[in-house]
Amino acid sequence: MIRSIAFIGLGNMGAPMAGNLVKAGFAVTGFDVAPAARDHARERGVRIADTIGSAVDGADAVITMLPNSALVLEVWTRLAAIVRPGTLVIDSSTIDVEGARAAHGLLPGCITIDAPVSGGTSGAEAGTLSFMLGGDAAAIEAARPVLEPMAGRIIPCGSAGAGQAAKLCNNMLLGISMIGAAEAFVLGEKLGLDHQALFDVLSTSSGQCWSVNTYCPVPGPVPASPANRDYAPGFASALMLKDLRLASQAATDCTASTPLGAHARRLYEDFVGSGQGHRDFSAIIAFLREDHSV
Ligand code: NAD
Repeated sequence: MIRSIAFIGLGNMGAPMAGNLVKAGFAVTGFDVAPAARDHARERGVRIADTIGSAVDGADAVITMLPNSALVLEVWTRLAAIVRPGTLVIDSSTIDVEGARAAHGLLPGCITIDAPVSGGTSGAEAGTLSFMLGGDAAAIEAARPVLEPMAGRIIPCGSAGAGQAAKLCNNMLLGISMIGAAEAFVLGEKLGLDHQALFDVLSTSSGQCWSVNTYCPVPGPVPASPANRDYAPGFASALMLKDLRLASQAATDCTASTPLGAHARRLYEDFVGSGQGHRDFSAIIAFLREDHSV
């Protein structure tokens, strides 16, 4: 029976996820290197530890929610020295498939799962994230009670690394579809269409997709979308670029042809390179209003 959970990485996603575990009755102890992240998590009822060691001390389960593969491997290497055998250890960060498999290999005595998520910060707040799981069947069943308070859907995808593989495919499609949605609004603007009128058509016609219906890149039609708060993330463009690079690398490694994924990666490289990496990934619409024809 899992009662106590250590949560490492309390950023835009981690803090609300940890907060939902608190609401579900788990004793959650968190650690983050950033003071602001620690404060946000504390406001959600998470007990804050000063070190990773004291966060995981006595925990039945550990969750990591970190920016990249190198940090996940660094933290999991540290965990290898301090967690009890049999501890459930879940990584929900988005990282490369090989990094995920390597992380599983660092904790052979533990129950390990790669469990990246989709649904953004709104899904993290609402406890409606989609979890994509990689790991063996027994590990997936062990993880379910911990994931459920944070989840809308829990989807087993296969063995170690399969959750990350599914996540990279999803986010490559998301990057492409956001550029597509933004281009449609830019074209509509040039053609004299009102944002709301175009949204009403796209969101109910064959152009509908998450980037239009839930995360609309222009202000107005979807009040919760980052466009309504000057594109504060949400999901930062730098993180989208990270995911598109991971997808491109995976495509190269397994010789899959992903020309639109490669093009989306180049557009986000230019956008982030222009100093916009901290803005939400839907802010690429401002970049697309300039001339980027190729
Ligand atoms: P974030 O940058 O807001 O949070 C990451 C946190 O990790 C930060 O608070 C940082 O201080 C902390 N951190 C870094 N190194 C650490 C260490 N050694 N020990 C403890 N804490 C450390 O990022 P986020 O938006 O919360 O995303 C986290 C992960 O989730 C990323 O891998 C991202 O790709 C993925 N993701 C994000 C979204 C989203 O919409 N933001 C959606 C799905 C998946």
